Amino acid sequence: MLDLNELKAKGIIAQKQEGYFVLRFLSRAGYFDANEMQHLADLAHKYGNGKMGLTSRLTLEIPYIKEESLEEVLKFCKERNLRIGGGGPSVRAILTCKGTVCKHGLVDTDKLAREMEDRFLMRQLPGKFKISILGCPNSYGKAQGNDLAFLAVRKIQLDEASCILCQKCIRVCPDKAFTVDEGTLLLDEEKCSRCGKCIPVCPVEALHQEEVEFLIFLGGRLGRRSRLATPYHKTCKEDEIMDITEKVLAYYEMVANPKERFAEVIERIGQAEVEHAIFN
Ligand code: SF4
Ligand code: SF4
Repeated sequence: MLDLNELKAKGIIAQKQEGYFVLRFLSRAGYFDANEMQHLADLAHKYGNGKMGLTSRLTLEIPYIKEESLEEVLKFCKERNLRIGGGGPSVRAILTCKGTVCKHGLVDTDKLAREMEDRFLMRQLPGKFKISILGCPNSYGKAQGNDLAFLAVRKIQLDEASCILCQKCIRVCPDKAFTVDEGTLLLDEEKCSRCGKCIPVCPVEALHQEEVEFLIFLGGRLGRRSRLATPYHKTCKEDEIMDITEKVLAYYEMVANPKERFAEVIERIGQAEVEHAIFN
């Protein structure tokens, strides 16, 4: 008798069509190489119905694998280093954006996501735990829906004395963060999402960007009982991300009840107390 929960935790998911399974394959920070894709396509043709589905966490699923073929399919995957997983009470596939190549990307998201994956992917926890690494404020909404997310931002410095009030920055700013008051340009830091779009348009270099830092989102979740995370009031540097992740996971492991999501832990204990326990 197959243990369906145990199989699901390994990325082998029973379909509602009896006798069939979906296999979930893990990408590497959102990428499969061409050889892997070729093997996956071969697998879908040989053992599935020829279709491959994409998921919101950058994994790839092949449905309609017959129960009697499972052993042979797992052997096929092992021989070709195709990684099956992404289920159960554990750190799920790391969600990232294409910040490494995207012109808006402020950091090498691919490198960070791979490091995160090497250290934490599939770590067993009381419940499922979703982590994302995102390269600019355009992904703010994605950060809000994860148990833990790091979102790269740049703080903007305005040199009011150099400003000639050409208003070019005002026109490009998507957040309407600039105003003019009695002949002086003002920047509202609360409104500024730190996207950096205003910097290159300034003709007199009155706008400068500070070092990239990361907003830290705790306790977001989507689904039936969604909770949008808000960022912690302090930011972190790139070299602090892995240590903070370790602390958050260790705390969650210590206080969460079985199957309790981090969002529920925060609601039960209180955001301030959770932040205090993790960051102090
Ligand atoms: S960094 Fe972006 S949001 Fe902030 S002031 Fe410049 S254009 Fe506006
Ligand atoms: S683009 Fe530069 S000079 Fe023009 S208003 Fe903005 S800060 Fe001032």
